[in-house]
Amino acid sequence: MSDVIVIGCGISGAATAYELAKAGRSVTIVERYHPAAMASGWTLAGVRQSGRDPRELPLAMAAVRIWEQLDRELDAPTGYTQEGNLRIGVADADIPRLRDIVAQGTAQGLDLSFLPDSAAIRAFAPAISPHVAAASYCPTDGHADPDLTVNAYLRAAGRLGARTRFGECVQAIETRGGRVSGVRTDTGVLPADAVVLASGVFGNDLLAPFGLSVPLAVKCVTVVRTRPTVPLLAQVLSVADASNAEAACAGRQQNDGAFRFTSGIEDWTEQLVERAGRPVIAPKAAALAATIGSFGAVVPASLDLGVESFWCGLIDQTPDALPVLDGVDRVAGLFLARGFSGHGFCLGPVTGRIMAALVNGEAPPLPIGAFALSRFGEAEQVRFDPVTLHG
Ligand SMILES: Cc1cc2nc3c(=O)[nH]c(=O)nc-3n(C[C@H](O)[C@H](O)[C@H](O)COP(=O)(O)OP(=O)(O)OC[C@H]3O[C@@H](n4cnc5c(N)ncnc54)[C@H](O)[C@@H]3O)c2cc1C
Repeated sequence: MSDVIVIGCGISGAATAYELAKAGRSVTIVERYHPAAMASGWTLAGVRQSGRDPRELPLAMAAVRIWEQLDRELDAPTGYTQEGNLRIGVADADIPRLRDIVAQGTAQGLDLSFLPDSAAIRAFAPAISPHVAAASYCPTDGHADPDLTVNAYLRAAGRLGARTRFGECVQAIETRGGRVSGVRTDTGVLPADAVVLASGVFGNDLLAPFGLSVPLAVKCVTVVRTRPTVPLLAQVLSVADASNAEAACAGRQQNDGAFRFTSGIEDWTEQLVERAGRPVIAPKAAALAATIGSFGAVVPASLDLGVESFWCGLIDQTPDALPVLDGVDRVAGLFLARGFSGHGFCLGPVTGRIMAALVNGEAPPLPIGAFALSRFGEAEQVRFDPVTLHG
């Protein structure tokens, strides 16, 4: 028997399991596929504070302070680099948007500046096309390697005694007398006093028996990875106006030299299939072409590179594009870490600390009132804000 079962081994689940194990709790992670099989592997893996909702920015800033020490803490490389984020503007209407992002971030203490022209941008990032007219620049943003990071958390949790069950799907959360008593998986019952649901886009079926759900619009993002090339781009790029799906993109150069870049947020139309134990969604050819074109317009050198891989990733978007980090009042011992809305990779380290504190009955390290499930009210009244930013 474990004290706690964590459902899902993306970055949220792996970081939560690590923090719980560090606090001396016995933990088991149950994962339907394998570590980082879904959003935490599909991700661009930008570690970004700039352009965050003001309610979420303190979490992102706290997360970056952890990222800065994370390799040492986990005693393993995460691929984290801190060389900045450029949010770029190509149209006149982007300029006030970027100025707003800078004003809001600096008001909350973030080091963020406005780059007013191509020369200022290309001084930092010469690979960026001269048609990019302005940008916000946050030097303390960065990126990491998603698979390395999840596995670093997992191994560190394992050294502290956490157990893992991969290829096993949780089918129900079991309760007794209004309290969590464990989970039922496709292989049997696992008893536990607490359950953390860190299950990404899936999981509302597990909440339905309690009359609960996290309202989600599940969206899709096309991702392309090129062959490696020489170092050309240190920063993570994304566009100021992500609501223009045709031109929206985000991207970065991985530490191995490959460009990894994405579309904006798209409707999810293609089926998720399992191939060799992996969840796979094939992007539409037109979406691939558009993504290559949008990013190529910003970083022309990317157009000369071979395409090595491509995929679609799913986004668990909540109505206000903020996550749910909460305990469930009506089921003692049940905790939720879901709905990261396309920007939960950066938050992973702080999500782990918040969720561990909640499970341990301690005050969370940061205010989390904005992330309560109760903010959404009744399901039929929920309205989704349009598109959010990622990268
Ligand atoms: C294309 C793309 C680009 C992105 N770019 C960025 C970015 O630049 N920066 C950023 O901060 N964020 C980004 N994000 C978002 C970020 O990747 C996610 O918010 C984050 O990875 C979510 O992690 P998670 O652990 O909550 O969920 P996931 O990684 O989705 O993990 C949930 C896990 O739960 C498992 N699971 C579900 N149901 C069950 C069950 N019943 N039983 C057992 N296991 C179950 C799933 O198999 C899955 O592995 C991006 C996302 C995508 C898709």
